[in-house]
Amino acid sequence: METEAHKLVYPEPPISTNVEALRQEIQELKSQNNSLKTQLAAKITQEEQLSKANSCLQTEIIDRQQTETALRFLLDRLLREKNDLEILLDTTTSHSDTIEAIMYDKALSLAREVTIDGLTQISNRRAFDQRLSNEWQRLAREESPISLLLCDVDFFKRYNDRYGHPAGDDCLRAVAKTIEACIRRPADMVARYGGEEFAIILPNTQQEGATFMAEQICQAVSSLKILHESSHVSDYVSVSIGIASVFPERRVSPRGLIEAADRGLYLAKNNGRNCVIFSSKSFKD
Ligand code: GH3
Ligand code: MG
Ligand code: MG
Repeated sequence: METEAHKLVYPEPPISTNVEALRQEIQELKSQNNSLKTQLAAKITQEEQLSKANSCLQTEIIDRQQTETALRFLLDRLLREKNDLEILLDTTTSHSDTIEAIMYDKALSLAREVTIDGLTQISNRRAFDQRLSNEWQRLAREESPISLLLCDVDFFKRYNDRYGHPAGDDCLRAVAKTIEACIRRPADMVARYGGEEFAIILPNTQQEGATFMAEQICQAVSSLKILHESSHVSDYVSVSIGIASVFPERRVSPRGLIEAADRGLYLAKNNGRNCVIFSSKSFKD
């Protein structure tokens, strides 16, 4: 048993020491508190940044999903179009011969339409102009002559009035066919010059040969014996023909030749019709 006398008595620390320790402790706690505050603030900033980044990512994900849907849609459409094209290509390839033949026929009929007169099925004015220009240049180089006949149906207005326009058309077809049958050389050409007028190009032909051809044509048309009761010159459809011949020159246009033949035609009409007249007047005058 411990006696009162043996009790250990520790000296109480002085009050000033206690206060100092407490102050230090408070100071440390304050500084710890500050540090914790700073850490907390940093954490809050970090979290805010993370939340912002997260919302950006969400937006981007939605954007990408929308883009992906649009791309899928586009891809589907492209695939469908590709399939259609493949089918078309297959069809085109397997029918290429037929298609080529159709195109060729179309090209031919287009070329015909451009150069052939619809009513009479002989060459038209455009083909005539082209041929005359080509022959003019060729014969100028060859220093060979060319002749031109301009042939006009007599009293054709009266024919239409008497027998009707459709009969007039039939008559023009028959006259065209007859003139065509009269020309024999491959380089000769007959064309519908306009209305009831026909033009005949005779390359390498001079006055004598051209006059002979004109008379043949006149005779052949009369021989058709197409009744023309309103004609003042014959019982049948007849034609008048103007003739001109020249040695073409490169620098001179064929226009003068046409004018000369037209003058011959005018004279033939004045001469009573159903005849041929050579226009000897030089068209360079
Ligand atoms: P001329 O003897 O002086 O040549 O007298 P014409 O009556 O033949 O001459 P005119 O120029 O007075 O009349 C030409 C006629 O030709 C008038 C026109 O209606 C007719 N004609 C022109 N083109 C066609 C056609 O494509 N079909 C028909 N049926 N008639 C046509
Ligand atoms: Mg006429
Ligand atoms: Mg006439």
